[in-house]
Amino acid sequence: MKHFPAPFLTRLLLACLATMLCSRLALAEWLSDEQAIMGTSVRVELWDEDRVAGEAAIAAVMEEMRRIDRDMSPFIETSELSLINREAALHPVVISQEMFDLITRSLEFSRLTGGAFDITFSSVGYLYDYRRHIKPTEAEIQRALPGIDYHHIILDAAHRTISFSQPGVRIDLGGIAKGHAVDNCVELLKKRGITHALVTAGGDSRIIGDRRGRPWMIGIRDPRRKDGVVAMLPLSDTAVSTSGDYERYFKVDGVRYHHIINPKTGHSASEVHSATIIAPTATTTDGLSKTAFVLGPEKAMAIIESLKDVEAVIVDKNGRLLYSRGLRRPASQTPVSGTTRPQP
Ligand code: ADP
Ligand code: MG
Repeated sequence: MKHFPAPFLTRLLLACLATMLCSRLALAEWLSDEQAIMGTSVRVELWDEDRVAGEAAIAAVMEEMRRIDRDMSPFIETSELSLINREAALHPVVISQEMFDLITRSLEFSRLTGGAFDITFSSVGYLYDYRRHIKPTEAEIQRALPGIDYHHIILDAAHRTISFSQPGVRIDLGGIAKGHAVDNCVELLKKRGITHALVTAGGDSRIIGDRRGRPWMIGIRDPRRKDGVVAMLPLSDTAVSTSGDYERYFKVDGVRYHHIINPKTGHSASEVHSATIIAPTATTTDGLSKTAFVLGPEKAMAIIESLKDVEAVIVDKNGRLLYSRGLRRPASQTPVSGTTRPQP
């Protein structure tokens, strides 16, 4: 057996350690991917010292997004949501716990917002096709309008079923499923040990940690100038959703038809141009980002102010920026719920 002098072994060990450290540092980087899922753009950005593990985590996020799309898309005939819409007016339909819980959550947002958020909006909403610029006639809207009312949804927790109290009711989770998906993905990343990440699905995002020492800077788009930004929000460890009337829309005779529906009228809800909500989870921010469109900025802000850890930035009909109280605090005070003051 060959013996090496102690200093030689120490030097060798140090050299090995240094090489390992350098190669680890060289591998440590921000990894990202963007894919078209759920009719929108899904983006993940995360930090992982281990590139292989980081890429596997991103793949797991994309798969989770696809799974939720398969279950909750109104455009996929075999989805659980399509099954509900086909059968729930005929008899109670047994549904998954996940679907049951998300519909329960949706009804909570309906009660909180006085019916501004209502997944039965789809009873009329399905008649619009924003891509093909198709809108229902006023007569068609009036015929379908009785189908909109979240009270038509009957959930039975003991049997885990859903039924509709009358025909003509349809539900659509487009206003909450992306937030739910983002939250699921964040849990999945945390379980894999990820401590710095941003997950985005359409207008819904959630951030784990910060951008390694500084906050993520999330821009609020100018609703009327495609590349314009009206405010930058420095955010960490929080969720943020923006709804805008510029996302899915078409114009006829100067009227903008867009994808957020006023449940009372069946028409596009046009009280504001955009609303951004900041809260701990994306299910919450998604569920609340439609409120101001239907209720107007004052009533929506009153709801936001009544909730703990929830903030909002609204661009009203005149392009004015309105901030909830927590975001209006002087810079010297402690930031709220993972945010610091917005930078106009
Ligand atoms: P994104 O899909 O980009 O996250 P939003 O969060 O603004 O956009 O959600 C818009 C979607 O919400 C619409 O496409 C529709 O599916 C759904 N929706 C429209 N009106 C309502 C409403 N009054 N209540 C609940 N959901 C709605
Ligand atoms: Mg959303």
